[in-house]
Amino acid sequence: MSLTVAPEFSTRVRRDEPLSRHTSWHVGGPAEVFFNPRDRNDLAAFLRAAPPEVPIQWIGLGSNLLVRDGGLEGIVISTHGTLDALERLSETTVYAEAGVACARIARQCIKWGLGPAEFFAGIPGTLGGALAMNAGAFGGETWQHVRAVETIDRKGRTHHRAPSEYRVSYRQVLAPEPEEWFVAAELAFERRAGSHAGEVQKLLAQRKASQPIGEWSCGSVFTNPPGDHAARLIEAAGLKGFRIGDASVSQKHANFIINHGQATAVDLERLIGHVRDTVARIHGVALHPEVRIVGVP
Ligand SMILES: Cc1cc2nc3c(=O)[nH]c(=O)nc-3n(C[C@H](O)[C@H](O)[C@H](O)COP(=O)(O)OP(=O)(O)OC[C@H]3O[C@@H](n4cnc5c(N)ncnc54)[C@H](O)[C@@H]3O)c2cc1C
Repeated sequence: MSLTVAPEFSTRVRRDEPLSRHTSWHVGGPAEVFFNPRDRNDLAAFLRAAPPEVPIQWIGLGSNLLVRDGGLEGIVISTHGTLDALERLSETTVYAEAGVACARIARQCIKWGLGPAEFFAGIPGTLGGALAMNAGAFGGETWQHVRAVETIDRKGRTHHRAPSEYRVSYRQVLAPEPEEWFVAAELAFERRAGSHAGEVQKLLAQRKASQPIGEWSCGSVFTNPPGDHAARLIEAAGLKGFRIGDASVSQKHANFIINHGQATAVDLERLIGHVRDTVARIHGVALHPEVRIVGVP
């Protein structure tokens, strides 16, 4: 049965849009309905008109998503290239919409003389994804800077929420309501004299030396277990270079899995399972995926 979309949106939704075009692993089957809103009002109107029983999945830059080959039933809302306002609110606070790329936040904060925001340069996703994941890099974490968020629900209503309403931990954010998504946040930084652009370049160069940047990946596949590093455990289990289909464990950083060009989501998910099972057998440690796995097999 085909999902009915209100007539005012029918020419703008993309049906059966391959999600491989929207994920950094470049895999994933089709989205039944793919919608990229023009702005907040358009988004609210679309949500109000959406059938209440239809599943909704949000996607930013798809840099932490493994979409299965069968794709996603229901609606996919993409914030990429939209919801992109970024403004300075006060001496030390910034307002950013969910579709703003994290790297842009880093660059703009440096221009404004605010920090520490350099870590955002290491996260190749949107602010919405960073809020959902509590993304972090180089010792900084997204929610350390959140003063307030704006969310939208299935009925298109906006909510203003304080960080205290969320349970935030390492790469995990538990929201007070399951079907509310981030549309913007107010972020606080400190005043920093001088430019820190050189600092960003240094951090990115360090990262390039230790991670397979430029290859098709989702960054770290597993979260680090308490007191250890997933990469160390995977490497010590002899899994560097282990391959299934066209996917392999990176030789450069064992917690990265690379799609060499033709991998399917099945290859990637099998490889994730193999790494998890091997580490559990050899080290007795349970690894948990940081990557979100969604969709129909
Ligand atoms: C090369 C590489 C390096 C990486 N390095 C790091 C790193 O150092 N640190 C780190 O933390 N991560 C890292 N990542 C992972 C990834 O970039 C982050 O998790 C990022 O925050 C995901 O943002 P995104 O916009 O791509 O989200 P997506 O992958 O599109 O989505 C991730 C999750 O967020 C949800 N989501 C997206 N937007 C919204 C929204 N507006 N409201 C509610 N939910 C939403 C999605 O539904 C999904 O569940 C790396 C990835 C790559 C490819």
